[in-house]
Amino acid sequence: SDPTLRADPLPEDNPDRALRPQGLDEFVGQAEARANLRIFIESARRRGEAMDHTLFHGPPGLGKTTLAQIMARELGVGFRMTSGPVLAKPGDLAAILTNLEPRDVLFIDEIHRLSPVVEEVLYPAMEDFALDLVIGEGPAARTVRIDLQPFTLVGATTRLGLLTTPLRDRFGIPTRLEFYTIEELNLIVRRGARLLGVPTDDDGAREIARRARGTPRIAGRLLRRVVDFALVEGDGRISHALADMALTRLGVDDLGLDGADRRYLNMIGDTFAGGPVGIETIAAALSESRDAIEEVIEPYLLQQGLIQRSPRGRVLTLAAWRHIGLEPPRPQSD
Ligand code: ADP
Repeated sequence: SDPTLRADPLPEDNPDRALRPQGLDEFVGQAEARANLRIFIESARRRGEAMDHTLFHGPPGLGKTTLAQIMARELGVGFRMTSGPVLAKPGDLAAILTNLEPRDVLFIDEIHRLSPVVEEVLYPAMEDFALDLVIGEGPAARTVRIDLQPFTLVGATTRLGLLTTPLRDRFGIPTRLEFYTIEELNLIVRRGARLLGVPTDDDGAREIARRARGTPRIAGRLLRRVVDFALVEGDGRISHALADMALTRLGVDDLGLDGADRRYLNMIGDTFAGGPVGIETIAAALSESRDAIEEVIEPYLLQQGLIQRSPRGRVLTLAAWRHIGLEPPRPQSD
């Protein structure tokens, strides 16, 4: 699969910074989450207190990091960013926590990948704004409590199910992010094209939006690649025909699926007669990690009704059989 089309953060995200919405008003979509956040931000501002800890969960590229940055900006506080796998030792997290200014936002990406000993440090920090340090060893060891500045922890995860219950329970504001509608992605693509200074026809922008897998990060990537085609092979303008040609050459099909998606569907169809087939078997057959399949590939296919989850594994739907152009082996009972 073409790595530039996947939703994981790449160095290529840097130019994204220009397209990143700076305030809640500029942020398109996620209407419910946005309306609630607006109230919680305003309330925290009026009280002059740190906003409650917030957890964003949902597939990659939907705006979790962006919303965390917007929260800090709208709260008028500092923003610190780290991630679960980076925090190897309790001391790594303690160092960050003791350096926070009052009411700062601390963003921890991939918070489901925190090690248990680091997570332990987080509990009193979140609950009491305190750090419990163990001094000495053996029978002489004692715990010293150090006060921290009040702060807001914003956690992000693609896998809510992998969060421990004690951690999950300490977030006052759990927020699920949804895939974007074509209309919302259309607004995002048009705004991006405007910022890039590229003339775009309405149905050209719409075609990119339609094939962006419900994901703003992918919409941004596809827009950049289509701009490349428009400059080199077209007249610099994003028309519908140009967008369609470019996306097809990028391996993005009519439903917005990429090579990895199609490989997944074809494999279940060809090798496993449409399923049900278990996730471990799928991962082995595709030589992909189970995590990547569950976090990146499956959520969109489920949302599009191309696969279903059953207790015995994944099953292709009739829509998926139609899409990959194969005949289902037997009439489907659903
Ligand atoms: P996540 O943290 O969920 O993986 P990010 O916040 O990094 O996602 O967003 C990925 C990219 O998509 C960012 O570069 C951002 O510019 C863009 N983006 C995300 N949400 C929106 C939105 N609602 N409107 C416009 N652009 C967005």
